Amino acid sequence: MTLNTPLKTKLKTLASAIALSIATAGTLSACQPSNIKAQALNTQKQADSIANKAFSEFSESFIDQLWQLYPGTAVYVGFYKYDNLLPIPNTETQQKELAFYKQQLALLMAINPDTLSAKNASDFYILKNDLESGIWAMTKLKNAQWDPSTYNVAGVFGIILNTPYKPLNNRLKTIIERMENIPAYYQAAQKNLTNPTLPHTQLALQQSKGALDLFEKSIAQKMASSTLSKQDKQLFSQRLSASSAAINGYIHWLDKKALALEKSTAAKDFRIGKDLYEQKFKYDIFSSYTAEELFNKAVSEKKRVHQEMIKIADKLWPKYFKGTEKPANKLVMIKAVIDHISVNHVKRDNFVDSIKAQIPELEAFVLKHDLITMDKDKPLVVRETPLYQRGFAGASINSPGPYDAAANTYYNVTPLDNFNDQQAESYLREYNHWLLQILNIHEAVPGHYTQLVHSNKSKSLVKSIFGNGAMVEGWAVYTERMMLEEGYGDNEPELWLTYYKWNLRTIMNFILDYSIQVNGLTESEALDMMVNQAFQEPAEAQGKWRRATLSQVQLTSYFTGYSEIYQLREELKKATGDKFNLKDFHDHFLSFGSAPVPIIKDLMFDDYVNSHK
Ligand code: ZN
Ligand code: ZN
Repeated sequence: MTLNTPLKTKLKTLASAIALSIATAGTLSACQPSNIKAQALNTQKQADSIANKAFSEFSESFIDQLWQLYPGTAVYVGFYKYDNLLPIPNTETQQKELAFYKQQLALLMAINPDTLSAKNASDFYILKNDLESGIWAMTKLKNAQWDPSTYNVAGVFGIILNTPYKPLNNRLKTIIERMENIPAYYQAAQKNLTNPTLPHTQLALQQSKGALDLFEKSIAQKMASSTLSKQDKQLFSQRLSASSAAINGYIHWLDKKALALEKSTAAKDFRIGKDLYEQKFKYDIFSSYTAEELFNKAVSEKKRVHQEMIKIADKLWPKYFKGTEKPANKLVMIKAVIDHISVNHVKRDNFVDSIKAQIPELEAFVLKHDLITMDKDKPLVVRETPLYQRGFAGASINSPGPYDAAANTYYNVTPLDNFNDQQAESYLREYNHWLLQILNIHEAVPGHYTQLVHSNKSKSLVKSIFGNGAMVEGWAVYTERMMLEEGYGDNEPELWLTYYKWNLRTIMNFILDYSIQVNGLTESEALDMMVNQAFQEPAEAQGKWRRATLSQVQLTSYFTGYSEIYQLREELKKATGDKFNLKDFHDHFLSFGSAPVPIIKDLMFDDYVNSHK
């Protein structure tokens, strides 16, 4: 899609309107001296409402144009207006995207955030960050040149195939239309990939094989059994052979690349290094600290948690190992106690039901201890994960998308049907009696689900689409500690020990990501750290290593958000003394939606202190 002239003109007009509204806020000199104050206030209010209106118009227009530029991303968030379009990632498209980001940033910067409401101001900073981040990724990170896994058409086709947002025949027609550009898409991809890394090439190889399956099996079967016309089916089979050839060609190309990269000594490192890492951290996480500062904090936090775990394990030792000598290595002792208490777990057939039963207990605790306002409007629906969403075992919150706000929030729990006895036992030991409680706090109450209920009240499209991951994950991690500190579980040492093991994973995620991407940590060093210092299972550690080679920075979001929220709370406690109120803090904090923690801090700190004097 190209930006047509009327749209460009419209944007220019919008920019001047914004500039004008800002300018009028300063022209107070023309007022009569007698009521200058009232006049000034009035003018200020007027200017503010004009600015707020201008901002709303800007963000609406920005998002619509964004979906035209990225119709696939739009489908992911449930916006289907441009579902038939598949842009070709060639130079022309890339230049268009960059120009769009620069133009939108200039338009945004013409708005003064100080004249906006708190809700809009936080949206303003989120958008500013997103636009700057987009420009940075295109011009500095340049992952389009080294990450072959960014090129994969399958995901969006899968959603169109499996989501009943319009009748099946219409979706199949959309799929046929959208397939037209597949050959050109993969040609452009190969041209862009001047410097791929080995792990990203291997990932793309694996995923592209899955893509081929989607077209040749799932889509082809649905087409064949549909009531589409003969012509439609004919067109489909033409496009299917062209698409298969294109994807096969890409697979072949990746295969050769992977072989060459394995042998090469000059292959591009998957590690992005310190400079790019700090910048990506700044954009993706939106912290008030540098990555290095938080890395140091994580390292000292790991030491503190180890000390706490040693104290608890020491105390529990005689209870479980009476008459047995304690291992000299303290970490080995901790591991022995953890392994022993992990046998306390539910039966595999009770897994889903026991999670279901725990939610009301958590809600009752939050209410009784007056921790956070609980809204009964939108109860959480605990269900077995639908078959088409299974893949990973476990439990997770499935929240409604930005364009489907009325939908239910589900707590998807996958039953252990696909495990053999040994796998089930190992899984149940990991998600044992103690850990399940912490998991439910994190995912449901008062973690992700509760945060979602609150953030829906200050809902904005901007936050639904660009919400800050560090805030969202940080909140869930923060609530684990907060609940235990408020007495959930009666300070049972087993629960605390399990909590620390779980928390250690969050801390270790940060340390690992930074150490691998910035300090060149090797695979064996990383595995050793996870297994011997964070008590993780080898399989889990292996998976984490892989994730840390394929993504950068994302693994730091949990610890960063958690640290900043906890610290903000402690600072407010200090500033308000015995007037501090935990429930007020939580409600106030959550009222800004999924904005970055430093923005929320800016918006609430003085207010909170002034109203708790
Ligand atoms: Zn067992
Ligand atoms: Zn989470």
